[in-house]
Amino acid sequence: MSGGKNNPDTCILCGAPIKVVHPAQTMHCAICGRKYTDVVLCKEGHYICEHCRKDPGKEMIRSICVRSTSKNPIEIATEIMSSPVIAFRQQEHHSIVAASLLTAYKNNGGNVDDFKASLMEIIKRGTHIPYKIQLETGTSGGAMSAGIFHSVLTGMNIHNKEGWAEGAMIVAECMTKISEIEGPCCCKRCTFTAISVTAQNSEKYYNVPMDIPEKIRCKYTKRNRDCVKANCPYFPA
Ligand SMILES: [Zn+2]
Ligand SMILES: [Zn+2]
Repeated sequence: MSGGKNNPDTCILCGAPIKVVHPAQTMHCAICGRKYTDVVLCKEGHYICEHCRKDPGKEMIRSICVRSTSKNPIEIATEIMSSPVIAFRQQEHHSIVAASLLTAYKNNGGNVDDFKASLMEIIKRGTHIPYKIQLETGTSGGAMSAGIFHSVLTGMNIHNKEGWAEGAMIVAECMTKISEIEGPCCCKRCTFTAISVTAQNSEKYYNVPMDIPEKIRCKYTKRNRDCVKANCPYFPA
């Protein structure tokens, strides 16, 4: 994929050259779906609005989660991670775990008062987790993101008693499972593990069971030169 996220002359979705049309056309943004009148699109017909061009990863997470009807957070995360605007090891993984869990929680019948506001809060908090947290702290942004899901869902505040301990337990359970697999760290493996552990415990902690696949098969092994292959439980057989 030669998508030009850092190249203003190429499309961030397909890498095709950008063209300018006259007169201006009314088009739907290929990420957020909103309608705009503009003069710039790619030769394959992708129009990306100015707002989405600024932060395509975050907009892609928001757009997929708002539209998704999936009850399976692994499926939701896979759809997001398969987008060309989500690069390997990109910081957005720290939002993807929580956003996929919240979306699946809602789609499994869980009550979320204001889903879009909660989703935006999750995406914002995901950006608070440093890009290299794995290397700098020996933890995992994926596990922290499960904690973001918990704290947004439960509306955690500074005086909260039980919610805090539960959140710490969920993050600890994610970390324990992540620690069972050898390094180097992998954004996809941490994402799959944190989502699976939290989804498996969703009924216990939140009274809402979530669908997860019996076997998770990673589609991204070729994009990771450090992939531990058969030593990763998600390596496709
Ligand atoms: Zn394109
Ligand atoms: Zn847009």
